[in-house]
Amino acid sequence: MRKLAVLLILLLALLGACARPTPPPELEAEGLPALSPAPLGAGERLRGVATTTIVGDVVARVGGDAVQLTVLLPPGADPHTYEPTPADLTAVAGAHVLFVNGLGLEGFLERTLRNVGDIPVVPVSAGIRPRPLEEHGEESHAHGEADPHVWLDVRNVMIWVENIRQALSALDPAHADRYAANAAAYRAELEALDAWVLEQVAQVPPQNRKLVTNHPSFGYFADRYGFEQVAAVYPISPGAEPSAREIAELEETIRRFGVPAVFAETTVSPKLAEQVARDTGVRLVTLYTGSLGGPGSGVESYVDLIRYDVNAIVNALK
Ligand SMILES: [Zn+2]
Repeated sequence: MRKLAVLLILLLALLGACARPTPPPELEAEGLPALSPAPLGAGERLRGVATTTIVGDVVARVGGDAVQLTVLLPPGADPHTYEPTPADLTAVAGAHVLFVNGLGLEGFLERTLRNVGDIPVVPVSAGIRPRPLEEHGEESHAHGEADPHVWLDVRNVMIWVENIRQALSALDPAHADRYAANAAAYRAELEALDAWVLEQVAQVPPQNRKLVTNHPSFGYFADRYGFEQVAAVYPISPGAEPSAREIAELEETIRRFGVPAVFAETTVSPKLAEQVARDTGVRLVTLYTGSLGGPGSGVESYVDLIRYDVNAIVNALK
């Protein structure tokens, strides 16, 4: 009888393994466009435009003084829901190149380009194989979309640096040596930053390595630095309000896992995150996700952003 039970369990386990849904096909990485030298007059600098403050900071580090850079989004603007201004369209129309995060982060991009016409667009995330976007809540299903938040794994920004160096050197070969030197110096800073993050997160006990964020933007961070993104206040994007049932499920998840903090973000109203923190009696901590802070915030560069977020996460969860 006992033997039969064991066999039955084995059989059920096997059936279970077979019935597991096949994983969605792997998502494709974006590519870099072919670029030729921009027609620059004597003393004329390459004009670049970047979408987010984070992309802008990294382009500025590689381009240095050789590039005249305009950043479209102001600090604190949410890249998912941003609407370009007429001044943005003018800046893009007058530029030699537009640097974007890519992977669908910038919802306004297609509309912008329709209005502006022919300008080379460099997705700085080119070559990064995207992870699928996680969705939390009742509508949960894999729909094959890429998770665009690659910059929260510092190694991905090292790939950005190389993409930006390549693009700038192709557009402005006269300054290729300078771009290479800037890129090498910044890359060394990023290597040190990545090592620092690994050191800091080691303070968080394994059972506390659970993130409840405002929207699912910490997937790459979680994969690289050993966390799990267990739930989010906005299940998909801050552009889509969660239902009352989704909020109730989120609060249930927080209680079940004993998560000690909910993370809000500077780019989205904290109203819902505040409500969730209040209902569940856990701490509310604000992170920088899709944007740097303004002047005087202390989070004026990408390196600042990672240091700020890691300190906040470690302090809240350790
Ligand atoms: Zn996002």
